[in-house]
Amino acid sequence: MKFLDLKKQYSQITKEINSAILRVFRSGVFIGGEEVSNFEKEITSYCNIKFAMAVNSGTDAIFLSLKALGVKDGDEVITTPFTFIATAEAVANCGAKPVFVDIDPVTFNINVNQIEDKITKKTKVILPVHVFGQMADMDKIMKLAYQYKLSVVEDAAQSFGAFYKGKMAGTVGHIGCYSFFPSKNLGAYGDGGMIVTNNKKIAEKIKLLKNHGSSPKNKYKNLILGMNSRLDSLQAAILRVKLKYLNKWMEEKRKKATVYNKELSAVKKIILPQVLTNSKHTYHQYSIRVTNERNNLHNFLKQIGVPTMIYYSLPLHLQPAFKYLGYKKGDFPNSEIASQEVLSLPLYPELSQAEQKLIINKIKSFFKVI
Ligand SMILES: *Cc1c(COP(=O)(O)O)cnc(C)c1O
Repeated sequence: MKFLDLKKQYSQITKEINSAILRVFRSGVFIGGEEVSNFEKEITSYCNIKFAMAVNSGTDAIFLSLKALGVKDGDEVITTPFTFIATAEAVANCGAKPVFVDIDPVTFNINVNQIEDKITKKTKVILPVHVFGQMADMDKIMKLAYQYKLSVVEDAAQSFGAFYKGKMAGTVGHIGCYSFFPSKNLGAYGDGGMIVTNNKKIAEKIKLLKNHGSSPKNKYKNLILGMNSRLDSLQAAILRVKLKYLNKWMEEKRKKATVYNKELSAVKKIILPQVLTNSKHTYHQYSIRVTNERNNLHNFLKQIGVPTMIYYSLPLHLQPAFKYLGYKKGDFPNSEIASQEVLSLPLYPELSQAEQKLIINKIKSFFKVI
C-alpha cells in the first residue's frame, strides 16, 4: 500500500495523458503557447475569477504575489507557523518578516481572533493558509484587511477546489496561490503553480514579474526586474486533462473520508478531522489527532505496511531556518501540540475499499477497539 499512488491514477487516464504529451511534443512549443494560455483560461472559468497566471511552483506563486504587492525589506506579513516552509520562506525571500499567529486547534487554520493583536504599522499582508484542504475563516480576515488597509494573499496550495460559505479557496483575498506539486489536489507531473486575482493591475504586474519584466510587445525590452517563473507547456497539457477529473476525484475522496469518519468514530482516542458548516474540504490530507500515542501508532502502522505521514512535525517558528526571528518553544502552543498529535492517513480516489478497511482495522486493533 502507498500513502499516495500516482501510478494508479496515471493507469486510469493513460490514453488521455499520453495524447496530451504527444500533442505538445508534436507542436514543438515547450514554454508558454496555447497549452498554457488555454489552461489559464480553464482555471479562470473553474475558479470564476478574472485573471489566472501560470507560474513555476506554488512557492513562486506566493513569492511573486508578495512582490507584486510591493512587499519588501522591513515589511511584515502575518501567517501561521503550522504550514509548509514555503509559505513563510516566500515572505523572508522578499526581505520581509513573517509574523506568526497561532492556529485554531479544530481546523488547524489561522486563529482569526488573534490576528489583530499582531498588526503593526509595518504589516502589509495577511497570508492565511488553507491547510489540509479546508479554508480559513476568510470573512473575518477580509474584514480586518479592509479595516487596516492590508492586502490578503491566500496560500491555497492544498485547497484548490475547496469552498467556504460559497466561495472558492484562492478567490476571496486580493490574490490566491495554488500549487500543482504532484501530490496536491490538482497535481502536475513536475512542478507548477498558479496565481489568481480579480485585480487587473496586480495581474499585469505578475505577468511582468514572472517573465523577466519583458514587455508583452517586445520580449527584449525589460520594463522591470523580474524572474523566470513559467509553467511548462507539457505540465499545462497534463493539468488540463486532470482538471476535468478533479470534481469526480474530490467526490470520491469525500466519500472515503466519510467511511473513515464513520468507522473511526468508535475509537475514542482519535479526534477526527472537523469540517465546518458550509465548508467543502478537499481532503488534501485526512489528518486525525492522537494524544500521547501518535508516534507509537505511526510506527505500528509503518511496521505492518500501512504508510501514514506527519504534517507538520516541526512548526515553522521552531525551524532552524527561522531561528533568527527569535521565537521560542511555547510561543504558539496550539501549533506545537498539533505537530505532536497529527497523523495523515492514506486517502486518494484509487485507494481500494480493501486497503481502507485494512487501515481502519489496524488502527482499531492498535487501540484495542476490536
Ligand atoms: C505545497 C505547498 C506550497 C508550495 O508549493 P510548491 O508547488 O511545492 O512550491 C506552499 N504552501 C503550502 C501550504 C503547500 O502545501
